[in-house]
Amino acid sequence: MIEVKEAVKIIESSIPELPKITVPLVKSLGRVLRQEIVADTDFPPFNRVMMDGIAVKYEDLQKGLTSFSITGVQAAGSPQLTLSGNGNCFEVMTGSVAPTNADVVIPYEDVSIDSEKKLAVVNIPDIKKGKNIHRKGTDKKKGDLLISEGTTIGPPEIAVAASVGMTELWVTKNPSVAIISTGDELVDISDQPLPHQIRKSNVYAIAAELKMFGIKSDIFHIKDEEERLVVELGAVLDSHDVLILSGGVSKGKFDFIPDVLEKLGVDKLFHRIKQKPGKPFWFGVKGDEKVVFAFPGNPVSTFLCFYKYFVPWVKNALGMKVTVDKKALLSEDFNIKTGLTYFLQVYAKIDEFGKLIAFPNVGRGSGDHANLLNSNAFLELPGNTFEFKKGEVFPLIPFRSL
Ligand code: AMP
Ligand code: MG
Repeated sequence: MIEVKEAVKIIESSIPELPKITVPLVKSLGRVLRQEIVADTDFPPFNRVMMDGIAVKYEDLQKGLTSFSITGVQAAGSPQLTLSGNGNCFEVMTGSVAPTNADVVIPYEDVSIDSEKKLAVVNIPDIKKGKNIHRKGTDKKKGDLLISEGTTIGPPEIAVAASVGMTELWVTKNPSVAIISTGDELVDISDQPLPHQIRKSNVYAIAAELKMFGIKSDIFHIKDEEERLVVELGAVLDSHDVLILSGGVSKGKFDFIPDVLEKLGVDKLFHRIKQKPGKPFWFGVKGDEKVVFAFPGNPVSTFLCFYKYFVPWVKNALGMKVTVDKKALLSEDFNIKTGLTYFLQVYAKIDEFGKLIAFPNVGRGSGDHANLLNSNAFLELPGNTFEFKKGEVFPLIPFRSL
């Protein structure tokens, strides 16, 4: 049995190199960018009018002129016009190119327009040169790095990539993942369980969690029969990069998974961690490419192991930039007698001082997954202590956005 931090280290050193693929920009949300995005032009690409109003020459304002003849309209999407003479102006629209010779825009709110006489009278004093003109290249210059490799693509990245003409992006190829449940007591969602049966749920939770990373998975169920497991699990292993198992790794008479995996050539890197829940977790690799996470079947154990171990692993494998680990303060004194690292279910929320506070929500053990409905995180309490005090700070593993 190993410590939690040793397990973390072993898993961290079992990261495969995932290839990159191109996807259409519109399908890239949530993927990890595997290229740099640079500006194909200056941002903005021309002196851009920022307000609807009139464009004038600053030197006219300096001379004290307040009344201007309207000599044309510069619409957004029209080629640049040239303002000529003195005492003249153009009406200009937001998003249009500032006309040549015009170096200040005065919004309609500060101007009186006489449409018949084609006159605009400026009602405000002290207008600064360049006002309401977003000058070419002031945000970014052509060739500037806009988005670096390893960024997770969100709506702002899609907007910026679209503006530089990227119809496709290089992103990390998702690994092919299989989720396998074992356990002869388990039936499908649509079945009515007999008195000695339950419906399987872990596989659907894991599939949903993977979906949040944009990863599709295949779901399998294999009976608790050793020969059958060798054949059927062998086939799943051949056709997938990552296996996530739930159940069959404890000390029961029908817990064949550790033996079967070793028979299939998966090297065990650890079995059993000094933690609760999730103690019987088995982890192994086959060659450089295949990784097997075999979680104990109790729903809260599977759930915790997924967030504590699989989520950081998959983020790493996908090439996501590492985010800062979260911590929270315990809301009240809490005692526990396990001697193992204890992952306490909590409801964490930010108090009025901006501190993240974790309220214990213990539940009735690792079979009580209904308790997860009222929790949003696990608080990691170290195994060498039995009494934890209000206000002490511990690592937090959220499974909902806080
Ligand atoms: P095991 O790890 O196989 O000993 O299973 C531990 C407990 O978790 C048993 O009560 C199982 O019925 C339950 N269990 C195992 N797999 C699942 C699953 N896919 N969904 C829900 N419960 C499960
Ligand atoms: Mg079982």
